[in-house]
Amino acid sequence: MRIDIVSIFPDYLAPLGLSLVGRAQQSGAVTVAVHDLRQWTHDVHRTVDDSPYGGGPGMVMRPEPWGEALDALAEPGSRLLVPTPAGERFSQRMAQRLAGEERLIVACGRYEGIDQRVIDHAAGRMSVTEVSLGDYVLFGGEVAALVILEAVVRLLPGVLGNADSLVEESHSSGLLEAPLYTKPASWRGLAVPEVLRSGDHARIARWRREQALLRTATHRPDLLAELPADALDPRDREV
Ligand code: SAM
Repeated sequence: MRIDIVSIFPDYLAPLGLSLVGRAQQSGAVTVAVHDLRQWTHDVHRTVDDSPYGGGPGMVMRPEPWGEALDALAEPGSRLLVPTPAGERFSQRMAQRLAGEERLIVACGRYEGIDQRVIDHAAGRMSVTEVSLGDYVLFGGEVAALVILEAVVRLLPGVLGNADSLVEESHSSGLLEAPLYTKPASWRGLAVPEVLRSGDHARIARWRREQALLRTATHRPDLLAELPADALDPRDREV
């Protein structure tokens, strides 16, 4: 997979060279290139914004630099991701869909956002997804790009040492993950649940399933309501 990110603050994306995303780049699982939008400006001030038509506060990103950026980066099969609080809510399901793409271009907006014609024009030549991290407003799309990339890259084949992690974690089965414990067995008077030290794999699996159900019911009842009827067995219904 190749991912191009366009931003007026390319330094914001430096963490992509670190940790597991950095290692995924070294291993060749993904290629990430960060581009400064201002390289596609032509005036001395390298202007990327202007006042909004129709009035109102703030500035809007002008379409010309974005158009040239996409002319330079788009290839057949590219998908454009536009982080915006007005987009489709990002989720593990969307991350799984995006992990199947060959080429992603992420357009990081700033100010009040990007002139709508950039998105409309791009939609004429490639797939476009406007994506929201959640119901709140950030300064810019860079943090959203970091979040989306991290969620997508860890799903690429070979990136995680133990692929089982992807099966058992929160949001893969539709339930939140059960609580986790490691050594020591007792810490500040708090003991690890006996079942996890029992070595009885069937009991451990049942306990984890029950904890996942309870946690999901407490923290995210909306997820439980979305589960297909056959996702719960009779014992689940007793929890
Ligand atoms: N005027 C916009 C609105 O009300 O929808 C908010 C613009 S915000 C200040 C500037 C940029 O931050 C956006 O263009 C987008 O790239 C990014 N951004 C802000 N909140 C976001 C969110 N919840 N999800 C994804 N991107 C976000």
